[in-house]
Amino acid sequence: MQINVSQLLQEPIGSTREYEIDTDSEIIGDGNTYNIHGSCRLMKTQRSVLVKCALDAEVDLTCNRCLSRFRHPLKIKFEEEYVPTVDLHTGANLPPPEDAGSFTIDELHNIDLSEAIRQYSLMAVPMKALCDEDCAGLCQKCGMNLNQGKCDCPAEETDPRWAKLSKLK
Ligand SMILES: [Zn+2]
Ligand SMILES: [Zn+2]
Repeated sequence: MQINVSQLLQEPIGSTREYEIDTDSEIIGDGNTYNIHGSCRLMKTQRSVLVKCALDAEVDLTCNRCLSRFRHPLKIKFEEEYVPTVDLHTGANLPPPEDAGSFTIDELHNIDLSEAIRQYSLMAVPMKALCDEDCAGLCQKCGMNLNQGKCDCPAEETDPRWAKLSKLK
């Protein structure tokens, strides 16, 4: 996901470019490749390129309750500044960005969106993914997926401490 910005860098501040993104990538680091699509808008600022993306993807997640795999839509939105590392005209190295975590434009004036997309995709994944808000989960005893029906396990056993109390009555 590389975009060459050498042209944009020579344009006046405020110049923009729109890019359609439609690519397959390992966005959430689970070993699977997913399609990711949407648009990114690049704008030249005083000393950087501001990248604003709105992307969509669908990823496979594991349900926190029933452990089944399910498709989950991801909305990936971000705005990041890409700072040049070399001077456009002289090719001389520029001082590194103040913020060490900044994204950079490489010496060939390419912006690589992969890392930002990966980071923001991971952030868009819910911490506790559920296949459905009402997911019934697994039976604690036999492990059956209760979304697929009832298992044959006896209904909840009475806690022995309560059993003693009920004898007293
Ligand atoms: Zn579930
Ligand atoms: Zn069971």
